Amino acid sequence: MPELPEVETLKRELEKNIVGKRIRQVCVHHPAVIRQPGVEKFKKELAGATVTHVLRKAKVLILELSTGKSLTIHLKMTGQLVYPGNGKASRVSFLFSDGKTLDFNDQRLFAELRLLDDWRSLPFIQGLGPEPFELTAQQFAQMLSVKKTKIKPLLMDQAFISGIGNLYAAEILFRAGIHPERSAAVLTGREKEELFKQVNEVLRQAIRYGGSSVDEYVRLSGKRGDYKKYHKVYDREGLPCLSCKTPIKRTALGGRGTYFCPRCQV
Ligand SMILES: [Zn+2]
Repeated sequence: MPELPEVETLKRELEKNIVGKRIRQVCVHHPAVIRQPGVEKFKKELAGATVTHVLRKAKVLILELSTGKSLTIHLKMTGQLVYPGNGKASRVSFLFSDGKTLDFNDQRLFAELRLLDDWRSLPFIQGLGPEPFELTAQQFAQMLSVKKTKIKPLLMDQAFISGIGNLYAAEILFRAGIHPERSAAVLTGREKEELFKQVNEVLRQAIRYGGSSVDEYVRLSGKRGDYKKYHKVYDREGLPCLSCKTPIKRTALGGRGTYFCPRCQV
């Protein structure tokens, strides 16, 4: 599932490509992905609107429009945005007045598109914890010190910190040398500092490479993100650890496949 780096990549690419463009028409090929309002209203209220800003909150994209409304896009499992698109696999196509098309694809139909008066009032957005890049090391350490939960599910808890999912939690913990089942509250000051550093470094590096294409995620151009080749533990069960050669282990933690090195992560 796309996480912060993938959604941030799309945000930056959308910003370059569609801000200032006017939506001429919206074609809905599969109404299931449109959660709010009804399909006809969705189409009617988007027609004629110009995209003024593109924002990201956690894993949600927000397109602010000249009409005062906003289109929120949560890609969930298999959502894709492709520009310029050809409409072939799209669930919803946004046709701009210059003749180009933004395609929204979603094989599994879990994605959520909403046209809202105020995106800030969306319950999902209101429940989000702070963005990783907006935190200081001190604030992060303070947040950890009061949590007795295991560190990996905590990093993935969107109410605790927003934007990190299963893949990046695994990569961050490996690089910080912290076992995924450690309790957050017992981490030492130095471990908390290292964890904060790795949260920032891993996410920033992943954005630099356009995110990780491990499933359906693609960049706006339709090309795959390149960060997968820098993964150190995710999806590497049984392969030698890149630091110590011990085979990488996979366990289930909080219902999610969790990859780690039993020697490097203590
Ligand atoms: Zn190792």
